[in-house]
Amino acid sequence: MKLLFDGWKDFKRRKFFKTVTVIVLAFLFGLGLFRISTELLFEEIPIFGFHDIIDRDNPQERPPDRLEWSSDYFKQDFEAFLTQLVRKKYWFLTTEELYDYFLADPPKPIPSEKRKQKKVLISFDDGYKSAHQNILPILEKLDRTYNTPIKIVWFINPAFMGIPGTALDRASCQDFRTGLEKGYYDLQSHTSNHENLTTLDSKDLKKELLGSQNLLRACTDNLDPTNQVANHLAYPFGAVNRFALKEVKKYYKSGYLYNGKTLRIDWFRDRYFLPRITVNRNHSVEQLLKIASGGWL
Ligand SMILES: [Zn+2]
Repeated sequence: MKLLFDGWKDFKRRKFFKTVTVIVLAFLFGLGLFRISTELLFEEIPIFGFHDIIDRDNPQERPPDRLEWSSDYFKQDFEAFLTQLVRKKYWFLTTEELYDYFLADPPKPIPSEKRKQKKVLISFDDGYKSAHQNILPILEKLDRTYNTPIKIVWFINPAFMGIPGTALDRASCQDFRTGLEKGYYDLQSHTSNHENLTTLDSKDLKKELLGSQNLLRACTDNLDPTNQVANHLAYPFGAVNRFALKEVKKYYKSGYLYNGKTLRIDWFRDRYFLPRITVNRNHSVEQLLKIASGGWL
C-alpha cells in the first residue's frame, strides 16, 4: 500500500515539474515573440549621450594634468565608432529632423532616399572645450574621406561658454559658431547654468530656460537663418517634474532625458521624455556599434 502511495506521490511531483516547465517555456517563447514583433513593428532610434572627448595621446588630457571622469570618452574610439556609422550609411539626425519626421503631430513624410537608412543621433552635453577641439577635426576628416557631412548635437550651458571651469574648460561662443558655420554642429540648450530644474521656482525656471535660449540665439545670430538653434532641451541631470515641464513646454519643442534607453517610435512616445543612451569610458566601440544597430545587450 505504501509503495503504491509513494508511486502516486512521485507521479504527482513529476507532473507538477512538467507543468511548471511548460509554463516557463511558454512564457519565454511569448516574451521573445513580443520583443521580436515590437522590434519589427516600431522603429528604434538610438540617441547617444556623450560628455567630454579626450585624446589618449595628449598628456595634458590625461592624469595628473587632467582628472579622469567616468563620462569621458577617448577621441580615438569615438573616431572609430563614427567612421563605422558613416561607412554603414547611417542617417545622423539633428534634433529638428528627429522632431519633424518622428515626433511632430503629424510628422513630415520621410524623404524616400532616407527611408531605408538606419538612424542615429549623437549628442554631447555641457559643451566642453576639449570635446570641441577633438570632435571638429574628426567631422572634417570624415567629410573629406567619405564626402559625408554629418551633424552632431550639442546641449550647451551658455552661461559657461568660454569660461575656464574649476575642473574642465568650456568651449566658447566662437567655437560653437565655427562648428555651426562649417555645417557640423546642431546647437541646443542644456539650461543656462546646469541647474536641477526640479528644484527651481517659476521665476528661476524662466531664467534657466528662456535665458539659455536667448543667449544661444544671440551667440549664433546671423548664422541660423532657418531658426534651428535652441529649440530643444536636455534636462540637466536628466531631471524634470510636472511643474518644470509646464515651463519647458512654453519655450522648447522637445526634451531629452539621460536614462540609458533607446527611443522607440511607438504609440507611447512622448517628445518631452526622449531617452538617451548614457556613454562612458568603459563602453567599447563594438558595444556602441551593437547598440546603434539595435542589438540587445
Ligand atoms: Zn549636463
